[in-house]
Amino acid sequence: MSLACNSMKINEKTGGLSFLHQAPSQWREAPDTPIEYAPKEETIFLSGGLTLLQDKLIEAALNSLGIRFIALPNPDFKSFQTGKAFGNRGQCNPTYFTVGNLVKYLQDLRDNKGLSTEEIVRKYVYITAGGCGPCRFGMYITEYKKALRDAGFEGFRLTSFDHEKGIFQGEEIEEQLLDYTPKFFVTLIKAVIIGDIVNMLGYKMRPYEVEAGSTDAALAQCKEIVAQAFLNHSSLIKALWKCRSELGKVKLNRLHPKPKVMVMGEFWAAMTEGDGNYNLYRFLEAEGAECTPQPIINRLMLSIWEAEQALYKKEVLQVSNGRKIDFSSLKTRLLIKAGKAAVKTHFTLYAKAIGLHDYEIPDMEKLAHLAKDYYTLECSGGEGHLEVAHLIEAVRHNLAHLVISIKPFGCMPSSAVSDGIQSLVTARYPQVNFLSIETSGEGAANFYSRVQMALFKAKQAAKEEFETLEVPEYLPKRIHNYLCQPVNKKIGTSAKLVESIIKSPI
Ligand code: SF4
Repeated sequence: MSLACNSMKINEKTGGLSFLHQAPSQWREAPDTPIEYAPKEETIFLSGGLTLLQDKLIEAALNSLGIRFIALPNPDFKSFQTGKAFGNRGQCNPTYFTVGNLVKYLQDLRDNKGLSTEEIVRKYVYITAGGCGPCRFGMYITEYKKALRDAGFEGFRLTSFDHEKGIFQGEEIEEQLLDYTPKFFVTLIKAVIIGDIVNMLGYKMRPYEVEAGSTDAALAQCKEIVAQAFLNHSSLIKALWKCRSELGKVKLNRLHPKPKVMVMGEFWAAMTEGDGNYNLYRFLEAEGAECTPQPIINRLMLSIWEAEQALYKKEVLQVSNGRKIDFSSLKTRLLIKAGKAAVKTHFTLYAKAIGLHDYEIPDMEKLAHLAKDYYTLECSGGEGHLEVAHLIEAVRHNLAHLVISIKPFGCMPSSAVSDGIQSLVTARYPQVNFLSIETSGEGAANFYSRVQMALFKAKQAAKEEFETLEVPEYLPKRIHNYLCQPVNKKIGTSAKLVESIIKSPI
């Protein structure tokens, strides 16, 4: 509580409403005993929770700016149990996994690495994304604080940022610990974009590798090359060009028809690569599928789109109220445009350098148009209308043999809203193979069995698609090169490749 709140006295004359006359003050949750935190140069920042590759690239990128930053290990089942042990009831999975992951890491520092609790609290700070909801997302910071306090790390500092407020320092942080300069964000976004691109190539290649593990070995090399480029402040484009030769060494056989599975849904559940979604991607690949995940950049583009919409609404309101347009919004509009253009330019440059040719950053206007008859676009939270838009896009543009929408158990925007609407979408597009599935942290057997059932249908579809093609006698070697990424109406990679040869024989 704030000092003002703490010092409030019940006033009998006003029935205890004396606070009505007090000046408003920021609510603060200050530790009981004041803590002398480490100076800025000794502070160590922790974060994590994106894909494994992105976490590591972000670590290198921030280290290159002189920030002492450590990416936490991937949240696992033990993190989930730790989160449950110290968290409130009724939270969603991402909270348990991410909160538990931080507590588990700090416990390890204390119990196995010999650091005292005081030293941990004094030196470490956790960076996370925050917001005011409208779902449980708005309670993340409170959850972190409760779990940290109950686990014995009272006073541990958190800093969060949300897209509306920019960077917002945790309440107890009195001085600016991180310099949130444009350079900080640009560096961070570069790491996220490169991570997306390299991940997408990995998902395209791994199902077709001739030697098991060769794709992962090449990706590990790429991670090292890009991380070094960040640390040495050398050209990222040159580094990605160098990654081409690593990826080019992986021998592929791309003539096995495999079902293409688009995975989307709640951001964290769909993105994490571990126990948080029962290792969904590895499971699908082991079952013979090729996965197409949604890159993180899509969520970033949605946030930019939402900011644009909010600005537009504000301007319309000002005009209809007879007020002059506030020209500060013009500046914001220009900034949004510049941000969008910068993301697209960097994505295109990096994708070209490493050889991702067939992916374009989604057009958010187009997706909003697809979803608008089904989903109120003003309704934000989670992925908003994106899940509905992705399903419609997948079926209209032949993008997948199976669309999986994954979400944590009881996720408000994804289970309660999007899935309700998806039943109308699937009724209107009965040909779609769609599976909506929840993760609870437990119950993996049931989860896998439902995925297998939907995958069976997808495998049949992929096989039929391939068998309807007349495979030419001569097929050029290049079809086994990852750089060959034809774009046509077929869904499966093998079918796409054969179709491209039929259409333009050599
Ligand atoms: S989108 Fe769903 S899973 Fe994510 S914070 Fe909100 S309620 Fe939880």
